[in-house]
Amino acid sequence: MRAVRLSQIGKPLENADVPVPEIGPNDVLIRVAAGGICHSDAHYRSGISKIDKLPLTLGHEVGGRVEQVGSDVTHLSTGDRVCIHYLVHCGSCEFCLRGLEQFCRRGQMIGKHRDGGYAEFIKVPGANAFSLPDEIPFDAGAIMMCSSATALHALNKARFKAGESIAIFGFGGLGFSAFQLARAFDCGDVYVIEINPAKLASAASMGAIVIDARSADPVDQIKEATAGRGVDVALELIGSAETMRQAILCLGPLGRAALVGLTAESMSIHPYTEVINKEAEIIGVSDHLATELATLIEFARTGKLQFPPETLRVVDLDAAQINAALDALQDSIDHVRTVIKVASDQ
Ligand SMILES: [Zn+2]
Ligand SMILES: [Zn+2]
Repeated sequence: MRAVRLSQIGKPLENADVPVPEIGPNDVLIRVAAGGICHSDAHYRSGISKIDKLPLTLGHEVGGRVEQVGSDVTHLSTGDRVCIHYLVHCGSCEFCLRGLEQFCRRGQMIGKHRDGGYAEFIKVPGANAFSLPDEIPFDAGAIMMCSSATALHALNKARFKAGESIAIFGFGGLGFSAFQLARAFDCGDVYVIEINPAKLASAASMGAIVIDARSADPVDQIKEATAGRGVDVALELIGSAETMRQAILCLGPLGRAALVGLTAESMSIHPYTEVINKEAEIIGVSDHLATELATLIEFARTGKLQFPPETLRVVDLDAAQINAALDALQDSIDHVRTVIKVASDQ
């Protein structure tokens, strides 16, 4: 089968011809229809995130049809439409037993620790394949299992409730999903903080109150718009110490700041006036949980979470096109996601 693989850190991905994976009794083989190109893939290629075993087929955002079902897999049949949960976990360690598989001691990320979905076929444990309702296109099914799932986890970690106001720092793939999911939770006012004019315009057209961080301090702007009160929840999706600090400072009493973006920078906080006084909470968010995916899939099935065609770019299963899409991720792209169309709808 055709696959696009990483053979050397810091070098472009390459087209390869590899055997179709053989499945075990607990696995399913999926004929890939669509695969999302994610910022993490650019980090694997560049070496910012470490990969131990090369060559490797990247790609952890996958939608497709079941081609073969292992003898012990009972919830799926050949031909079923599926999307995948990218974290393969053991199911028996202390964290898996508590439903916290992102901390699994033997966890493996698809497309990082094992071959991923930049290929015609992918093998995954049956437990990682979730039924994809007909209402959800394969491309949306692929990409929602990464950025949307993490956005949902961030809202859950922040204990976001109906009627609450929220500030979303960054309107890329995560922010675009977070906005729609906040709506699905019947949120109050939504503030989107951005510097990219196209993203500001897109957030405004969807009904967000946009805060242009180029024009004035976003914290001042949010405080002014809320008559000094601040917001209930802030999501930091950019990954910079400056916006993390802003996410904490724009909170009102009992506000929760969920930090999702990754950065190695430090930030300073004045404990008394900026956290203790208002009983604010600063919450770390990492990945998402299998138990959250049913809600996500249902929001997408009912149209509360959507990826209209104009928000996506489509490329082929071809190393040159995928490398170019990964290069573009280093700049601030205007569209939400680039998707690899592997097979036309089968
Ligand atoms: Zn991803
Ligand atoms: Zn485990």
